[in-house]
Amino acid sequence: MKTIKHIIGGAETAGDSGETQGVYNPATGEQTAKVVLGGTDEINAGVRAAMEAFPAWSTTSPARRARIMFALRDVMQRRAEKIAKTISAEHGKTHDDALGEVARALEVVEFAAGIQSHLQGDFSREVGPGIDTCAERQALGVVAGITPFNFPAMVPLWMIPMALACGNTFVLKPSERDPSSANLIFDLFKEAGLPDGVLNIVHGGKAAVDAVLDHKDISAVSFVGSTPIAEYVYTRGCAAGKRVQALGGAKNHMIIMPDADMDQAADALMGAGFGSAGERCMAVSVAVPIGADTANILVEKLAPRVAALKIGPPDDPDAEMGPVITAQARDRINACIDAGEKEGAKVVVDGRGLKLQGYENGFWVGGTLLDGVTKDMSVYKTEIFGPVLSVLRANDYGEAVDLINAHEYGNGTAIFTRDGDAARDFANRIQVGMVGINVPIPVPVATHSFGGWKRSIFGAHGIYGKEAVHFYTRLKTVTARWPTGIRSGAQFTFPSMG
Ligand code: NAD
Repeated sequence: MKTIKHIIGGAETAGDSGETQGVYNPATGEQTAKVVLGGTDEINAGVRAAMEAFPAWSTTSPARRARIMFALRDVMQRRAEKIAKTISAEHGKTHDDALGEVARALEVVEFAAGIQSHLQGDFSREVGPGIDTCAERQALGVVAGITPFNFPAMVPLWMIPMALACGNTFVLKPSERDPSSANLIFDLFKEAGLPDGVLNIVHGGKAAVDAVLDHKDISAVSFVGSTPIAEYVYTRGCAAGKRVQALGGAKNHMIIMPDADMDQAADALMGAGFGSAGERCMAVSVAVPIGADTANILVEKLAPRVAALKIGPPDDPDAEMGPVITAQARDRINACIDAGEKEGAKVVVDGRGLKLQGYENGFWVGGTLLDGVTKDMSVYKTEIFGPVLSVLRANDYGEAVDLINAHEYGNGTAIFTRDGDAARDFANRIQVGMVGINVPIPVPVATHSFGGWKRSIFGAHGIYGKEAVHFYTRLKTVTARWPTGIRSGAQFTFPSMG
């Protein structure tokens, strides 16, 4: 059986921990590989390699670093099919969905290829007699990324291209549940000409994460995953003096106003609720129709479509969604539905217990539609992260806004309406980081930045885009006097240059 190893200083190594974990094909339930689990020693080795590579990489001109991003773009485009297959084999998402993941990752690579202009500094001449000031942004040093299972290629590529383009070297600790994409990302960078040691992959779980958080030579940590771990990473990383951005979980609502195009809204909910089996941090998991008529029409439109969802393995070209990531995830999602039913939600379409012929051991949950969900139910409060769409009926627009604003998460949200006033008010008032107006999954393009509000993020910076340039660099301001011959005598008052 294949063993997925760390890649440190450009070379594969199993490390010394002796620990491994099984990697599964979620569609068949079969173990396809095992991944080595590193700890302190392996993280130390990864950081050492990154530190050794830093002096040369950080003084490589931004133009040369950009050229590697251009080359990476070409390599990724050529290998898009292979990347997508690698994602799907361990994650289970459909092939087209995986290709979409690759496309969004490519956008970040393209943005990083423009690093020369993003790193351009500021200059002010003659701020005092013979004195000029310039401000530049310098790389931090060794930075680390800790990533979730649900976008095993895109989320690492939200981080790595920007961090490297800014002149940092990197240690990635990918999800142990679908680790092969991370090693493939290394191969793609290598093919694009990245020197050894600039990017290192160390696999593992909690022990590896803790070693990252405590390592004195890691300057910054980017984390994407669930909220409890995001908060833990942020708190422990900050306590160790690091710069930390930690993006967490979500419960994304979509308001459907009575004037909305109901077919468009139903299409949007099908894709955003059930695409990738609901395992997206920007999945819509709560539909909030305004008024009983809107709710009845919506449920009538959704129910037959949820029941008819085409579910299959990634290589089934007709499949609209695949399995969930693990048997544990399947059982947890089923338990969430059980709890919702017990608390009084109406199970309009029930995805529990789905079996697929020929794939009896796969980790399947069918599309599930819950109606009559209320804000005190656990099914509403928690992130289910599965193919479960809850309908929470609101009497009016104000009630819906208050509901969303009161939720602990604030990652994404959307409103479907033809009313410009309502849409504008919504965008202004809603306490959520990424807002869609008739757009169900408003993931910002790479020229903007990604990040939620409230307990969907810890730290001041969103991920990728201009926020990434700020996160992965620090400001240096140089004030210089030329020619050196100018003398103003010893000054004992606070210097003013005017
Ligand atoms: P997770 O929190 O279980 O794991 C994320 C990372 O943390 C992994 O690398 C894992 O190895 C590590 N980890 C897990 N348990 C740990 C522990 N006890 N101590 C230290 N490290 C630990 O998340 P997941 O299940 O892989 O991914 C799904 C979650 O990620 C969902 O909550 C989803 O909303 C969230 N997510 C958020 C975004 C975003 O941008 N906000 C994007 C994608 C996914």
